[in-house]
Amino acid sequence: MPSALAAATPERLFRQEVLALHAYHVPPCTGMVKLDAMENPYPLPPQLREEIARLVADAAINRYPDASARCLKEKIRTVTGLTQGMEVLLGNGSDEIIQLLALAVARPGATLLSVEPSFVMYRMIAAFAGMQYVGVPLTEDFALDLHAMLDAIKRHQPALVFIAYPNNPTGNLFDAEAIRQIIAATPGLVVVDEAYYAFADASFIPMLARYPSLLVMRTFSKLGMAGLRLGFLVGGKAWLEQLEKLRLPYNIGVLTQLVAEKLLQHHEVLLQQAEQIKQDRKWLYERLVGTVDVRAYPSEANFILFHVAHASKVFEGLKQRGVLIKNMNGVHAALADCLRVTVGTQEENERFIAALQESIHNS
Ligand code: PMP
Repeated sequence: MPSALAAATPERLFRQEVLALHAYHVPPCTGMVKLDAMENPYPLPPQLREEIARLVADAAINRYPDASARCLKEKIRTVTGLTQGMEVLLGNGSDEIIQLLALAVARPGATLLSVEPSFVMYRMIAAFAGMQYVGVPLTEDFALDLHAMLDAIKRHQPALVFIAYPNNPTGNLFDAEAIRQIIAATPGLVVVDEAYYAFADASFIPMLARYPSLLVMRTFSKLGMAGLRLGFLVGGKAWLEQLEKLRLPYNIGVLTQLVAEKLLQHHEVLLQQAEQIKQDRKWLYERLVGTVDVRAYPSEANFILFHVAHASKVFEGLKQRGVLIKNMNGVHAALADCLRVTVGTQEENERFIAALQESIHNS
């Protein structure tokens, strides 16, 4: 082999940060009760499915999509109740928007700051973009440690702060006043990530006009469109017009635009499903609280974090019984012996509770 070719190995060529990363792991799930990824478990009503089938049949998939997705953005503005002056940027899932924001601010030495434990992609994407990452620990009951946050902000002067509201994987909403103080103290952008907004009765969208460096990010993944990959960012024009330059022109495909527009015309169907999930969350939480050896954390999202002795064994026991949830044990010190379950249909929740009780008994 010519020596130039032999020299071209990933270890020699790729950045150390990339080599050091662990790939985001998605486990196989065929035939299982799937309660690991915060998806909406409900299918769409048959009539709506037929309308979508017709739309897809007529879609011009030989053409590139509308690069600015005008109609879809207008629908999003309407269902979100956005005021004039606020702009919308679309992403192929909100993951893509996190990446876009990091790319925009990643000057040498720039810092991305978040809390720990929280959504793992903030840390991973900081590494993708070559940014410094600072994770400020939450308190023991997973609240914001305001003093530690303000201290870290002063010390690290972050270009970008992410706060998941409600937080993943803990499920709680942080204190809104503490978030306001964090926004006021941050020299960079603060992104409030409202991925689980449909299951919580709180939002920072009404605060956008008051804080020019605040952006709010949402996704439709948890509302029943995880397979479409659609997230959006809302904020002032000055920020969003710069970010638009980094967005790849056709990041939202023809089918996603068409189907999402149709689903947002029937937004009430998805909101009703979210309402059902909120009710079932209550049932599931009470069952978890009533299970011996389990400590469940209250949740404002469509999942519940719980602590159980021998969590990894219990997790394997659930898998053997055909129920897939998420094992958080080992992900972060504060999550030792913690598991996270997504709220499913009533039947799925019942199967999960039965399998959990058996698994605890046998572990
Ligand atoms: N933010 C948070 C807090 C999340 O939990 C998730 C998904 N797990 C995302 C963003 C990304 O969602 P998506 O890329 O599907 O829009």
